Amino acid sequence: MDNLKTENTQLTHSIKKIKANGVRITPQREIILEYLITHHIHPSVKTIQAGISSKLPNLSTATIYNTIKMLVDNELVIELPNKDGGIRYDYFGVPHFHAICENCGKITDVFLDEYPQIAEELEKATRDKSGYLITGTKVEISGICPECQKKLHLDK
Ligand code: ZN
Ligand code: MN
Repeated sequence: MDNLKTENTQLTHSIKKIKANGVRITPQREIILEYLITHHIHPSVKTIQAGISSKLPNLSTATIYNTIKMLVDNELVIELPNKDGGIRYDYFGVPHFHAICENCGKITDVFLDEYPQIAEELEKATRDKSGYLITGTKVEISGICPECQKKLHLDK
């Protein structure tokens, strides 16, 4: 499937899921959701605001925060605390995990066919050993990104 088709499917599927949970989808909410589906850059609220400013020039950060909270509650978006103290957001329609650079804070997606099984195993083990009711799993691997390896002369 090409990218555009996948993204359209993800948008339709996500809107359906939100409506099924009894939440109203406004044009503003749809534009924010669409931005997150089409931009896998782990944006901050400020980045989202700048990214959709041509479509919604007067959108407040409060509206963006409220929309993101709704998307997180509907399990479509995850929050990623960033090195800089802020929070980045990620559409999570396709499960994946993250490599995070300890030097520059960059967050890189890692897609692995086996990831859903690995996450399930981690959840099962956590449930068995801790008794927790599991509500979500985020896997993060720390490291130094290729660019920083060069900058820091860590590349061979
Ligand atoms: Zn880096
Ligand atoms: Mn991601």
